[in-house]
Amino acid sequence: DAAEAHRRSSEPAVTGDGVRVRVGANITSIGDALAAGAAGAEGSGLVRTEILFGAEAAAPAAGQQEASFLSIADGLHRQPITIRTWDVGGDKPLPFLPGPQEANPMLGVRGLRLSRHTSEAFDEQLEAVCAAAAQTPVRVMFPMVTTREEVDWALDRLAAARAKVGEVSLAVGIMVEVPAAALRIAQLAAGLDFVSIGTNDLTQYTLAADRGNAGVSALADGLDPAVLQLIRRVVTDVPDGVEVAVCGDLASQVEAVPLLVGLGIRELSVVGPAIPRVKQAVRHTSTEAARRLADRALAASSARAVRELLAAPR
Ligand code: PEP
Ligand code: MG
Repeated sequence: DAAEAHRRSSEPAVTGDGVRVRVGANITSIGDALAAGAAGAEGSGLVRTEILFGAEAAAPAAGQQEASFLSIADGLHRQPITIRTWDVGGDKPLPFLPGPQEANPMLGVRGLRLSRHTSEAFDEQLEAVCAAAAQTPVRVMFPMVTTREEVDWALDRLAAARAKVGEVSLAVGIMVEVPAAALRIAQLAAGLDFVSIGTNDLTQYTLAADRGNAGVSALADGLDPAVLQLIRRVVTDVPDGVEVAVCGDLASQVEAVPLLVGLGIRELSVVGPAIPRVKQAVRHTSTEAARRLADRALAASSARAVRELLAAPR
């Protein structure tokens, strides 16, 4: 129950059969980090930098970004933080990182695609990430990746930033938000440390249903078996040793936790207030039962059918 979830919020989340699932927090501000740290977050699986610095009039200098990253790390008791590079465009405009006027911004120059047009701001951010990584555990993550060529471009820029700042230890990963990225994850993730599935965008692109359009919100459901199949594909095809996390909003839905564990996910990043409940949901899961649940969900015919499966007593 809720009281027990809160009492145990600072304990790790371990399934009934002894499998550890990391539960981090999605962070958009230093205040978020303080609250999530107090709520038992194991670091952050997603720092949304475009929101963290979204109120700035001009692009924040590397030193300012570094200081903010360190404050976030402090709030999370210096556990690892996953800094996502600028994810601007689509539904998230930033005044100091303008993109082109587009008829279909969600299918346009957004995320890493925009960073390639504004590479000075990208380089500056990577310097801040590296400088923070010299002082606290940091993972860096690139958004809206579609091709290996984009990954290689980002890795080149990161290598340049590292050369400038000095060798730092830094885990590197990409977000899986585009169906093509899930389908060819073996190529995209080769040589990386982790991938993190962004179910919000992955859902909108899989179902061709705008995540912000109420007229299609019933279609844009992360529990749709088509989305679950892509998540399973990522888990099965990712190269050995590359960790798979989920940081989209699906992970914050407590009823989806057994399903994600059953699909093979061992790291979740969720909205801060959900941390105690998500950890408790992990504790009430056994991986064998979760695997059977996931198999049934994958074969279901609709998100609604999956929801019914999740609600049924097990
Ligand atoms: C996502 O797409 O699931 C995600 C976590 O990124 P954002 O919601 O910031 O687009
Ligand atoms: Mg996204």
